[in-house]
Amino acid sequence: MEHWAIGAANVTRVEEQIGFASFAPEQYFPGFDRELLRRHISWLVPDHYSPAHDRLVTSIHSWLIRTPRHTILLDCCAGNHKERPGFARFHRLDTPYLARMAAAGASPEDIDIVLCTHLHADHVGWNTMLRDGRWVPTFPKAKYLFSRTENEIGNPDRNPAAAADPQRNNAYHDSVLPVIESGQAVLIDGVHAIDDTMLVEPAPGHTPGHVVLKLADRDQRALFCGDAMHHPLQVYAPHWNSRFCELPEEARVTRRRLLEHCAEDNALLFPIHFGAPHVAAIARAGDAFSLRFVAGS
Ligand SMILES: [Zn+2]
Repeated sequence: MEHWAIGAANVTRVEEQIGFASFAPEQYFPGFDRELLRRHISWLVPDHYSPAHDRLVTSIHSWLIRTPRHTILLDCCAGNHKERPGFARFHRLDTPYLARMAAAGASPEDIDIVLCTHLHADHVGWNTMLRDGRWVPTFPKAKYLFSRTENEIGNPDRNPAAAADPQRNNAYHDSVLPVIESGQAVLIDGVHAIDDTMLVEPAPGHTPGHVVLKLADRDQRALFCGDAMHHPLQVYAPHWNSRFCELPEEARVTRRRLLEHCAEDNALLFPIHFGAPHVAAIARAGDAFSLRFVAGS
């Protein structure tokens, strides 16, 4: 199991799945440029692109962050046994995710904070699990942090657009509402300090209430960027939005701002969907950015 140390914090990846994107590159990124793919092909194959399938490779994982004070799970993948018709990668899964978390040294009872960067189905799944036919919170002792904005637009009872979208409707009812009903949800507004090393900050664009986590300890920094970026080629093309980005202009502004933060403040980038080795350092030259992967130890 690979670890990354950020000051006194220890970060481990908990994998749910890694595989081909469900859409061809041009559908995944409407602005996709084959020339950029060709220019970077030497390092994209095989962990980030499969020429045989002409598909980008993407991971779905959580970040387990252990500090002297907290054990945090950032983003909760697609989850097991969820009904997601039309989305094969999320539909009725049965993965050994909790066993992988145990191998990383954490049980569900150890998690004291769950942070969902946004409420899309592949970020909230393990919030809950099926027990005796009911969806119950997987992490019995955790507070679950959700953006208040995100909760309002994700709630099908308040937002007709969410009600009309079966994916969002299902995900909210089986993976968010049970946590609110158990009293474990904490709705956050604006910048929220978890402690003096960790800040949750708004990063709107992919969704209106999307948030990121910044960790800074002993001059070392990390940025957990959720879906502000989906694929490493976006470091070279920060204007590319995924088909799932809900506010395109804000998404571009946010992505560039986060890349600038990583480059200028030397923060390691921890995305949710990048293939191996999953973590990157970002450098800036003029208006452009470049990436260097940083393997764990
Ligand atoms: Zn998303």
